[in-house]
Amino acid sequence: MPNANLLLFLGEALIYVVAMIWLLHLRGRLGLGVFVAALGVMHFIETYLAAVFYVQLPFGVISPGSAVFFSGKLMIILLLYVKEDAATVRQPIYGLLAGNFLTVALSLLLRLHDTVSIVPNRVADIAFIDEMGWLMVWGTTLLYFDSLIIILLYERLGRWLRRFVTARFLICGVVVLTLDQLGFYAALHWVNGAPADVFWGGWMAKMLAAPFFAVAIGLYLNASRHPFLAISDRPLGDIFNDLTFRERYEDLLSRSGKDTLTGALDRGRFEVEGQQMLRDAAAKNTPVSLMIIDVDHFKSVNDRFGHIEGDHLLQKLVATVKATLRPTDRLFRYGGEEFVVLCPALAYPDALSRAEDIRRAIAGRVATPNGAPVTASIGLSSAFGDGNGVRELLSQADLRLYAAKSGGRNRVVGR
Ligand code: GH3
Ligand code: MG
Ligand code: MG
Repeated sequence: MPNANLLLFLGEALIYVVAMIWLLHLRGRLGLGVFVAALGVMHFIETYLAAVFYVQLPFGVISPGSAVFFSGKLMIILLLYVKEDAATVRQPIYGLLAGNFLTVALSLLLRLHDTVSIVPNRVADIAFIDEMGWLMVWGTTLLYFDSLIIILLYERLGRWLRRFVTARFLICGVVVLTLDQLGFYAALHWVNGAPADVFWGGWMAKMLAAPFFAVAIGLYLNASRHPFLAISDRPLGDIFNDLTFRERYEDLLSRSGKDTLTGALDRGRFEVEGQQMLRDAAAKNTPVSLMIIDVDHFKSVNDRFGHIEGDHLLQKLVATVKATLRPTDRLFRYGGEEFVVLCPALAYPDALSRAEDIRRAIAGRVATPNGAPVTASIGLSSAFGDGNGVRELLSQADLRLYAAKSGGRNRVVGR
């Protein structure tokens, strides 16, 4: 019987991989939706099978749901990435995650219904929904990480095994399916009390499935003359950003977040980037300096020359400050005529002379229409001496700005 099971198992894997490759191959004619919907539909029953449907093979007890459907899906997701790109493959990855979370969330509501039994002695099994629901959420969360890891690993392997696509698929399958087996078994053990045999049997089955799928996909890629040499040389970080929609987020940040009058970054941007910069600096153990620049007697400039001229001076001031900064420094318009500069990898002594340069540049180049110089006062603080967080640096610099104002203006105050 175990041998008959083995044949059935291989037959299932063959049907799975041939059908899915076929749907993927025809995506140009059928649309990608057919392939993605098929992948999503099979995802549902797979978790059920992986939880309860086990068969005896010559080397142990295995779950076709996990070894055929799940392993196949992961390899096919990687194939989709190879044929398309990160921006395409992230769609089913996120779709599966969203669908499963929604199913579980809605089933929490469903149970509140007063149900009607239309077939005698058949009632809805809420316990089943609970068990499956959480396993599906766990399974899809694992799948999410598996998918990211398998794609990044595939790219990394391209450095050494560029043309050996079957070997790359095989190594990716073995590594990621092993990790996945650890994760899924842990849940199965916790929810169902699955014995250790289930782990080893499942792992063996996945290790059998990985070469099977790798060879099938390798044959397909060779037959379809996929241009292996055109495989991307993009940095892994970029691919990761694409896979996780992070590039959209960064795109959003770079499009908005600018002050319309002066072109400096706006305060919202400061909140995001300030924290990020200090976190990076703490991780790398490098300094960060922060300056608050406040225009002196700006109200009287407005009063004497009007708001339009005041606006014009703010623009001139931003251009002047920008000209003194390094490409990595960031200039934000924090309030009306208050600006914040964040300087990564700039320690206090250097920041002090940089602040002096800025102060001098403003006094030298920004002037009212009648030629009177416009000056600014600057409060300076630096991590790590003045604190490690952006809030601490800001309030320390603000105190020093206040000291600069009361000390006579047109000056820098630091420690
Ligand atoms: P000091 O900082 O030296 O103590 O004096 P100040 O006159 O600059 O004081 P304060 O910070 O109270 O005044 C800021 C003024 O900046 C008030 C406001 O009218 C003006 N202001 C703020 N935003 C803008 C703007 O976008 N355009 C113009 N023209 N003026 C602005
Ligand atoms: Mg002010
Ligand atoms: Mg002012």
